Amino acid sequence: MRDIAHFVNGQTLVGASGRFGDVYNPNTGEVQARVQLATADELDAAVQLAAKAQIGWAATNPQRRARVMFEFKRLLERDMNSLAEILSSEHGKVIADSKGDLQRGLEVIEFACGIPHILKGEYTEGAGPGIDVYSMRQPLGVCAGITPFNFPAMIPMWMFGISIAVGNTFILKPSEKDPTVPVKLAELMMEAGAPAGVLNVVHGDKVCVDAILTHPLIRAVSFVGSSDIAHYVYQTGTAHGKRVQAMGGAKNHGVVLPDADLDQVVKDLSGAAFGSAGERCMALPVVVPVGKKTADELRERMVAEIETLQIGVSSDPAAHYGPVVSAAHRDKIADYIRIGVEEGAELVVDGRDFALQGFEKGFFIGPSLFDNVKKGMKTYQEEIFGPVLQMVRAESFEEALSLPSEHPYGNGVAIFTRNGRAAREFASRVNVGMVGINVPIPVPVAYHTFGGWKRSAFGDTNQHGVEGVKFYTKVKTVTARWPEGETEDSAFVIPTMK
Ligand code: NAD
Repeated sequence: MRDIAHFVNGQTLVGASGRFGDVYNPNTGEVQARVQLATADELDAAVQLAAKAQIGWAATNPQRRARVMFEFKRLLERDMNSLAEILSSEHGKVIADSKGDLQRGLEVIEFACGIPHILKGEYTEGAGPGIDVYSMRQPLGVCAGITPFNFPAMIPMWMFGISIAVGNTFILKPSEKDPTVPVKLAELMMEAGAPAGVLNVVHGDKVCVDAILTHPLIRAVSFVGSSDIAHYVYQTGTAHGKRVQAMGGAKNHGVVLPDADLDQVVKDLSGAAFGSAGERCMALPVVVPVGKKTADELRERMVAEIETLQIGVSSDPAAHYGPVVSAAHRDKIADYIRIGVEEGAELVVDGRDFALQGFEKGFFIGPSLFDNVKKGMKTYQEEIFGPVLQMVRAESFEEALSLPSEHPYGNGVAIFTRNGRAAREFASRVNVGMVGINVPIPVPVAYHTFGGWKRSAFGDTNQHGVEGVKFYTKVKTVTARWPEGETEDSAFVIPTMK
């Protein structure tokens, strides 16, 4: 059995905890490797080395740090195919989707290549008599990232791409379900010229997470995962004096107005609800057609579209989506479908009995469609995170607007319409952090920022873009005076600019 070790201070580090997590191949259902789970002492040893490395790295000029990012980008592009294959074999998403996962992370690295420009501070000459004021952004020290299973490449790069470029060193604690690609990324960062200790990967579970959240040398923690854990990470990390951003779960709605191009909506919904087996925080698992005619037509077309979907192993280029990440997760999705039926929603397409010939032990589940889902239902309120599309019928624009606005999650939302005025009003009034207008998965580009509202994010800075730079740096403001020579009297009154 292959063991997946930590990567600390530029080297593979075999852990001594004696604790392991199973890493499956979701296509076959077999355990393909074991990942080591760190102790608090092992985490501490990595942090001490990262703290030592940070001094020299912060003193490296920003252009040199950017050159490492440029080289990392080149290496990632070189290895894109092999990384995508590994990613798919642990996660279960199809290869093209794994390449998308890598590519979206790479775009944050491209943004980080411009860090010398972004880090330039502000300067005011002559703010007072002989007084100049300037500010600069300085790195925090050692920062940490705790990431989910569903984007094992993109989300780590959201975090370490920015954090390292601004002069921090980084401890990445990736998901224990698909940990190989994060280690490969750290190896590539060393190959790109980052000094040892700049990017470290420490695998683990709650023991390691708690050690991160309470470690005195870790200044900032970025988390992405489910909402209850995100809330816990936020509360524990901030209670220990850290800057924390913690992104949580989602239940994104797609509102379909009667004038929308339904052919396009069906295609968009199909990809956004069932792509990656629904295991995306920006998936569209809820569709809200406005008016009975729109709903009936959409339902009929959606059923026909679902019949065309192909589920296959992650290496099958013809497959639209592959298996989900684990047997437990597949069973949880199936359980939500059972509950939905019990709650009185109408199960139009039932994907529970799907089995892939020759891969009966794989973690596959077919696409499901519910109609007449109501606001109060548990299956509407909670995140299912699987290939299940729920239709909630609305009678008016106002009702459709109120559904995502009042939902406890507020990550993303989409509206489909040809009416610019309605779309504009929707985008302005909806109580959700990221909005798509005829865009089903509105993940912002790397130089904007990513972040939801309500239970989808705790903390007040988003991921990547300029917000990411702010999260990973602190501002220092210098007020400098160069007197002409005469000694001035003491001033006992607060100085002001008259
Ligand atoms: P998860 O919350 O189970 O795990 C996330 C991380 O937390 C992992 O590194 C895991 O090891 C750690 N963890 C798990 N249990 C813990 C505990 N009890 N204490 C401390 N740490 C713990 O999430 P997941 O299943 O890996 O990922 C799916 C979830 O992530 C979904 O809810 C999805 O919506 C969310 N997600 C959100 C975003 C976003 O940007 N808002 C992006 C991707 C995924």
